[in-house]
Amino acid sequence: MSTPIVVVGAGHAGVHTASRLVELGYRGELILIDEEDGLPYERPPLSKDVLAGAESHEPPALRKQDYYEDKGIRRIAGSAVTAVDRSAREICLADGSTIPYHRLILATGSRARTLDVPGAALPGVQVLKTRADGRNLKAMLRPGVRFVIVGAGYIGMEVAAAAVKSGCSATVLEYQDRSMSRVTSEDVSRYFEDLHVAEGVQFAFGSSLERIEGSDRVEGVVTSDGETIPADVVVVGIGVLPNQELAEAAGLDCSDGIVVDEHARTSDPEIYAVGDVTRFTCPREGVSMRLECVQNAMAQADSAARHILGLDAAVAEVPWFWTVQHGVRLQTAGVRSSEDHVVRRGDPADGKFAVLYLRDGRLAALDTINALGDFAAGKKLIAAGARLDPVLAADRAVKLATTRTDDLAISR
Ligand SMILES: Cc1cc2nc3c(=O)[nH]c(=O)nc-3n(C[C@H](O)[C@H](O)[C@H](O)COP(=O)(O)OP(=O)(O)OC[C@H]3O[C@@H](n4cnc5c(N)ncnc54)[C@H](O)[C@@H]3O)c2cc1C
Repeated sequence: MSTPIVVVGAGHAGVHTASRLVELGYRGELILIDEEDGLPYERPPLSKDVLAGAESHEPPALRKQDYYEDKGIRRIAGSAVTAVDRSAREICLADGSTIPYHRLILATGSRARTLDVPGAALPGVQVLKTRADGRNLKAMLRPGVRFVIVGAGYIGMEVAAAAVKSGCSATVLEYQDRSMSRVTSEDVSRYFEDLHVAEGVQFAFGSSLERIEGSDRVEGVVTSDGETIPADVVVVGIGVLPNQELAEAAGLDCSDGIVVDEHARTSDPEIYAVGDVTRFTCPREGVSMRLECVQNAMAQADSAARHILGLDAAVAEVPWFWTVQHGVRLQTAGVRSSEDHVVRRGDPADGKFAVLYLRDGRLAALDTINALGDFAAGKKLIAAGARLDPVLAADRAVKLATTRTDDLAISR
């Protein structure tokens, strides 16, 4: 029997790498190892349908059990990989057993950052990353429960929406002066904040958490302004950290993420890394980044599988992301920079608009709010490196695709 390809981690990135290997023709032994129990599942619904849905709602499985059996993917669940021995080309499991690898793919993802303040370990303080976190949080969503959410990023905002929908109160603390500031522009932040406020969410901007109070469980939080906010639950949504320890201990290049090339290869040519755990240089922007989204996990999985099998690389897709808050869908494509020229397309008051980010006259990124057509057209324009006429592009009556001022698709 051939030495197996081993995939460590069964989130979007790990499962998709295994799938792509088989779909692209790999017929050797393939092992998918995950420290979590049960069938691998989708994470985005954890802060959306799972919280907002029926009592026993669980995140959907990425693949059914039959899929793994039919495709010959051997799953080892509920077992952590504890070490990578590069010289012996094998991995070690928590039970002390070892598995040799021909190629190794690290898809260990990320973990939720936790608070480092007094009271952070009290019952009632919750992050949202795993299926178990989703279940815990769901059980806390009862009418009258007082939620304080730390961090107004996507996850904090989605949790706040679910909380008020369930009849809880929700206060979002954010040390920046607006929501989702890392990922979007002021127009979009303000639109979503207004939406949340109309639904009963409260915001405290420019405010961070000093400590969490309570004897047996959370009773309140004290902010940097000295204010005390009563709370039964504190949800911590302050970003993630890459699970790079295995790679680091094995001597692979890491720098806030496992460093990979355009084929998802690490500094060891026999080891690949995919998904949230990686740091790479974005081909379009030339900047080093970690991208925590499903699209990136899938794209890197595809790149790794192709490279392992000696196939041509696929054309790099424009990164994209979505969030749903109070039923309103924000879709983002491309990677914006705070220096971009911002063009608003349409009026937020109509509940349907887009924000375009132009860099040197070219469309670099866009956010669309209930504007699906603009999203699809915008993604293509970003991929083409198209120049836009900013005046025409601001007019929603004019089709976005027709606002480009160059005819040639420019590849950068
Ligand atoms: C609540 C929530 C909402 C989100 N919403 C969106 C969204 O709307 N859109 C979007 O694009 N993205 C969203 N994301 C992000 C998206 O889910 C991630 O980018 C994606 O899941 C990354 O996949 P991954 O496989 O790289 O990592 P992960 O999903 O983190 O999976 C890694 C797996 O590896 C396992 N593992 C780690 N170390 C070991 C080890 N040593 N041995 C064995 N197994 C190990 C972990 O237990 C885990 O199961 C959301 C994430 C969360 C948590």
